[in-house]
Amino acid sequence: MAGMQQQLDFIAYIQRMLNEGDFSATYKFALLHAIADVCIEHPLQQPDSELVITLDELVDKFILLYWHHAMPFAGSSNGDVALLKQNAGKQSKVISVLYECQQNDIRNIRQLKDSPYWKQIYRATLTTLKEGPLWRLQVLAKQAECFLYPHSDNGKFIKLNAGIAYSFRRFYDLVVYLAKNAWLQKIQSIKDNQKLLGAQSQLHEFLFGIDRNALNKARPILIEIQRGLCFYCNKPLKDTHSADVDHFIPFARYSTDLGHNFVAAHSSCNNSKRDYLAAQQHRDNWQQQNLVKFEKILSTELAAYFYCDATKSLAVSDWAYSVAQANGAKLWLNKDEFVIAGSKPVASVQLATTGIIAANDTDAATFELKATNTDILQLRYFPNLKIACGHFKTGDDSCVEYLDAPLDFGSLNPDKHFLARASGNSMNGGKQPIMDGQLLLLELITPQSAGSLQNCTVAIERQDISGDNQYLLRDVKKIADGQYQLIAKNPDYPPLAADDSMRTFARFKGIVE
Ligand SMILES: [Zn+2]
Repeated sequence: MAGMQQQLDFIAYIQRMLNEGDFSATYKFALLHAIADVCIEHPLQQPDSELVITLDELVDKFILLYWHHAMPFAGSSNGDVALLKQNAGKQSKVISVLYECQQNDIRNIRQLKDSPYWKQIYRATLTTLKEGPLWRLQVLAKQAECFLYPHSDNGKFIKLNAGIAYSFRRFYDLVVYLAKNAWLQKIQSIKDNQKLLGAQSQLHEFLFGIDRNALNKARPILIEIQRGLCFYCNKPLKDTHSADVDHFIPFARYSTDLGHNFVAAHSSCNNSKRDYLAAQQHRDNWQQQNLVKFEKILSTELAAYFYCDATKSLAVSDWAYSVAQANGAKLWLNKDEFVIAGSKPVASVQLATTGIIAANDTDAATFELKATNTDILQLRYFPNLKIACGHFKTGDDSCVEYLDAPLDFGSLNPDKHFLARASGNSMNGGKQPIMDGQLLLLELITPQSAGSLQNCTVAIERQDISGDNQYLLRDVKKIADGQYQLIAKNPDYPPLAADDSMRTFARFKGIVE
């Protein structure tokens, strides 16, 4: 069905393909272009028709697309003439064979088809197509996602899924524009081509590129706040002079340097992350490090070189992750693992405060599934958030770990449920005593979900004079309209009158251990 949703999915997929695909050669751009061409050349019966494209047709298109590329390029600067490389390693097979024909006085495709070379070229191109781009095109973040056509080894044709040909026809200009542009950039980025291309190869970098000199200014302060550790793998950066300054939200996605968008990382971690967004746990850490804990230091140190605005950085990351979520994009976790940007928010950390806010901003956050371990639900555990059983106690959610969800509490929701430890003994009494140090399962209270808290055990939050959050666990008892008392289970602790400085924060669900 080529409905509105499928067309959006199509655009999202093409976007992801260019972001997440591995393009070591230019073949995949050629294939995308070729498929789009074939789609508009065939009349389509119905919007949701499938379309069979023979490999013959694709081979034809490939040769047509590469024909001009097989002519030597005359560099502007030094009079050099040579073939441009279309591959990071040795020259592409298709280019080599076409070049050979041209050297033998074949002047156009018509002559080529009539020549004795055709058979050989046809076979070489077909082999290239089958061995590489035909199945690699749909490998996103190292996994096959056959949105356009199923992978099959019939060796004769591909069959575009229902509605795909319609989308290619509808968005032909856009797809071809993207494919050509990415193709061009790939050729410019290949080192061997740069001598030949001369200054123009730096044009894109010059117009839209990264200011490496400025990036170097960010390195020392990042290494300092990360205490010499790689942001992603937490292992020491051996040579701090050559540590990479990584754009946390990739530069390819958002190409303005914001002072809070940098982290220091191993080159190997950075190269593996490439243009992917990092997984949610990295995002949580980035927010804590750059937007909360060291927000001011980064602003002070980097304002001379970059635009520094933590609120803007947060907004950009919210945008990037909400798009990733809508597109079902893969997020980079480490060198071997990706996680899916899902539909549910996990953590939403308030800017420059240490409060946990009810995670109701479904656009902003992503829910991550461990690729290897999709069936075990994990909940956030805040080791620094002590739920005081006694007097209000300062705590924060700056440190997040993940623990397996306890099994005996029914269905749990990682948006709402989290884990923290009790501290003190005011709740050590009654039928359900809570002891110092026990791990508690808590459920965030939102204005919508509060319901009646009468006689519930509730974590109360208030701010101390310096603005830090304090937490206290008590039973809530209504004593008059709008008046509540907070009761300790341990009679040694007197009741406390609830006042305006307090807010209900989380409902106590049970003791986990
Ligand atoms: Zn690392």
